[in-house]
Amino acid sequence: MGRSSKDKRDIYYRLAKEQGWRARSAFKLLQLEQRFRLFQGVHRAVDLCAAPGSWSQVLSRNLRGSAEGPPQVVAVDLQAMAPLPGVLQIQGDITKASTVQQIQRHFEGHSADLVVCDGAPDVTGLHDLDEYIQAQLLLAALTITTHVLKKGGTFVAKIFRGKDVTLLYAQLRLFFPSVTCAKPRSSRNSSIEAFVVCRGYSPPAGFEPSMDSPLLHGDLALAPPSGPSRVLVPFVACGDLSAYDPDRNYPLELDPHRPYRFLPPPAPPIAPPYARARSRRRQRPGGGDMDWIHPSINRIPDAWPPFTAIGRERCQSPRCGL
Ligand code: SAM
Repeated sequence: MGRSSKDKRDIYYRLAKEQGWRARSAFKLLQLEQRFRLFQGVHRAVDLCAAPGSWSQVLSRNLRGSAEGPPQVVAVDLQAMAPLPGVLQIQGDITKASTVQQIQRHFEGHSADLVVCDGAPDVTGLHDLDEYIQAQLLLAALTITTHVLKKGGTFVAKIFRGKDVTLLYAQLRLFFPSVTCAKPRSSRNSSIEAFVVCRGYSPPAGFEPSMDSPLLHGDLALAPPSGPSRVLVPFVACGDLSAYDPDRNYPLELDPHRPYRFLPPPAPPIAPPYARARSRRRQRPGGGDMDWIHPSINRIPDAWPPFTAIGRERCQSPRCGL
């Protein structure tokens, strides 16, 4: 497989490299912004699960300063990220109280206008488990949001539209009067990934943010709503219909006036979880590069070949947005 084959198969991956975005996900946030005007009046933003940093790039390039000073963007991820101008980076876990404290310290007592989260757990391939872990990550993002978002603020997060998604919608609706599920054009149709756009943060009366206990407990706990009490939210496809189809292959020569040139990724991962596997592969007789290993794989079993070998550059799981 040639090094340009991924450029043919993944148009947004190629465009991201051409436009200097660290990941193809940048287009998802840009298309959400196009539809929802998320950045209007936003001076302070938090990017949860930010590595390698394309959403932080979008935020830092699009937010405007205020009379108080330039815009402030805080990016949090478990993994290290290469520095980005105008972005404060926290290498930490979004489920930890220490992460909340670091964000609050940076904002010096002010609250954020916008919190975004493109968090994705390591995909196991067991769909029910993956959906469950994704839902937990979303709830962790919502929990941290309750500590740092100002009243009236906006929360945007990745969601898997699995069978229990209405429970998540119900929980989000407790905190936000407006919840919309949006599918940007650059998100593959074959993936159950979508994004919730939650506006007008307004926690229920008596709600005390806490990192020690599950988000909804005691009187605020919700039974899974069913029948007529099921919470439904509007679904919006966003991104111009003339935009590229992420599930299609495109020729390398998109524009006859601009010859194709292979570009390396602008910011390769600093310490990718698959680095150990790559070095082991190189040590094997006839071993080549391991770029095709799924980025979610952070533990390679001792027996080789790994059960997770995908053999393609793109994950084939219909559930995975990567
Ligand atoms: N939005 C990013 C961008 O545009 O570059 C891509 C995010 S990537 C799809 C998902 C990220 O979630 C990974 O970098 C992973 O480390 C992070 N993540 C998963 N669980 C996390 C947690 N508990 N705390 C912080 N980050 C987490």
